[in-house]
Amino acid sequence: MVYDVLVIGGGPAGLSAAQNVRARGRTALVISNPPEEGPLWRAEQVDNYLGLPGVTGAELMTAFRRHAEDAGAEFLEGKALSALRSGEDWYVSVGNTMVQGKAVVLAAGVVRGKKFPGEAELLGRGVSYCATCDGMLYREKRVAVLGWTPSAKKEAAFLEGVGCRVVYFDKPRDCVIQGAEKVEAVVCGGVTEAVEGVFLLRPAMAPGDLFPGLELEGGFVAVDRNMATNLPGVFAAGDCTGGPLQVSKAVGEGLVAGQKAAAFAAALK
Ligand SMILES: Cc1cc2nc3c(=O)[nH]c(=O)nc-3n(C[C@H](O)[C@H](O)[C@H](O)COP(=O)(O)OP(=O)(O)OC[C@H]3O[C@@H](n4cnc5c(N)ncnc54)[C@H](O)[C@@H]3O)c2cc1C
Repeated sequence: MVYDVLVIGGGPAGLSAAQNVRARGRTALVISNPPEEGPLWRAEQVDNYLGLPGVTGAELMTAFRRHAEDAGAEFLEGKALSALRSGEDWYVSVGNTMVQGKAVVLAAGVVRGKKFPGEAELLGRGVSYCATCDGMLYREKRVAVLGWTPSAKKEAAFLEGVGCRVVYFDKPRDCVIQGAEKVEAVVCGGVTEAVEGVFLLRPAMAPGDLFPGLELEGGFVAVDRNMATNLPGVFAAGDCTGGPLQVSKAVGEGLVAGQKAAAFAAALK
């Protein structure tokens, strides 16, 4: 199926975008990590969302999600790993699955932390961002999983299930990936482990890694007043476009991005 709009990220911005795409009568698929892994879920009390003072982040997220679901948005749980345009459509890979859409709303929040030394250099030569995609290549081998979320632990269990010997680093910092031609070791917090593969399972991908050629401004996605990026049919909303990093701004930008993405998709027909 070709969706009118693919939404990457199921936080306030992405859910607002999806609900507004559906309000324009267009199809929307939200690709996202589980809501409990988003930042707002951790907010004990949100006092500045208009009309709902004192609500918890989890309550707000649950209501946002229910609204988008009731509007008819579809959901695919997982992490978007890459996006490319072929013809007039966008193709987004999510684990081993590829989904297709006419327009995309990028609402992936902010990526915290920089790449580790050696990560970019050894990408595809032992460094991977997807256990279910590349795990079979490392059967019987010793691999490191660097995980930051409960989903990462599930992916580590998947690797063990296919016969990898897994060393798990929970929320590691100060890591270095070593190797000349391919991965030979990883060092995290002074601990060195000899491994042949390193799976970096962060909750998010840097926007520029997801969409090669995407224009950034100070590390955030550059957008115009229509929330359009420099790439055709790609809109962005929420924290990924810059501050203030707040729910109301994310929801408002999601509305604009969703409406403009729906119009873009409609114009292609
Ligand atoms: C503890 C805490 C308290 C806060 N309190 C408040 C408050 O009181 N008031 C307020 O206004 N704001 C508050 N915030 C900020 C607020 O949570 C954010 O501004 C808001 O959630 C941004 O929404 P967003 O949709 O842009 O991004 P996010 O909420 O970050 O949502 C993005 C979603 O996309 C997912 N994702 C990212 N990359 C990918 C990918 N490649 N594939 C699939 N999914 C992906 C992420 O896991 C996440 O679920 C708080 C934040 C925290 C951490």
